[in-house]
Amino acid sequence: MIEVRGLTKRYAGRTVLEGINATFTRGEVVALVGPSGGGKSTLLRCLNGLESFDGGSVRVGDCALEPGRGQAQASQLWELRRRVGFVFQQWHLFAHRTALGNVIEAPVHVKGRSVKEATEQARELLAKVGMSHREGAYPAELSGGEQQRVAIARALAMEPEALLLDEPTSALDPERVAGLVSLLERLRDDGLTMVAVTHEMRFARMMASRVLVLHDGHIIEEGNPDQVLAHPQHERTRAFLGLGN
Ligand code: ATP
Ligand code: MG
Repeated sequence: MIEVRGLTKRYAGRTVLEGINATFTRGEVVALVGPSGGGKSTLLRCLNGLESFDGGSVRVGDCALEPGRGQAQASQLWELRRRVGFVFQQWHLFAHRTALGNVIEAPVHVKGRSVKEATEQARELLAKVGMSHREGAYPAELSGGEQQRVAIARALAMEPEALLLDEPTSALDPERVAGLVSLLERLRDDGLTMVAVTHEMRFARMMASRVLVLHDGHIIEEGNPDQVLAHPQHERTRAFLGLGN
């Protein structure tokens, strides 16, 4: 579970997130939507400490991030990042490592697993994301959707409790989007908490149990996909969805 309390973030004195409160529970799949520049990516990055913040807290179990704690924060940050995986929009695979090599990298170098053990686990993960047949391929030899599935397997190799995805559908064709939805459903059934930023409302409707709308650094609306996307209450959500008045 991820608990966010009063999270505030400023860039050069400009507030981009203000007093955000949100709880993401086990096995929940949350879509974070809203207009460009609203703070979605920033919030996602704050959730696993990729970005520092100016006020409030982020908790994952007994691990907490708060601003101004200096050195004491380092071990918490490290533990929190282990528990909360991140899949970037551009995936950032290691170009000089094969799909399998990418997936075993962190377990071997960060967790200290043996190559043999990490390889067995990586093969299971590649099977789970439907990439077994390409384990020896380098990122440049893979399609966008294939690279993304390897990136998801790589994040899962650290056995996180939660997975954060920033615009996971941006490079996928509609058929691949459906494939991603079914992969995320399987991960959800394993109890993984997922938060995905998306611009695609069809994807949000398919994958999410809950939708949060972020506008100008505030959560202006939240609820199940039907409530928020088909029957939004907030005028700004209606405008964002192009529903008019
Ligand atoms: P999009 O849908 O376009 O990806 P977003 O909701 O993800 O938008 P963010 O990237 O979180 O928006 O940006 C929120 C605000 O913070 C924007 O006004 C942006 O210009 C600003 N911002 C983001 N990163 C930085 C940075 N490194 N330095 C200064 N300002 C930043
Ligand atoms: Mg963004």
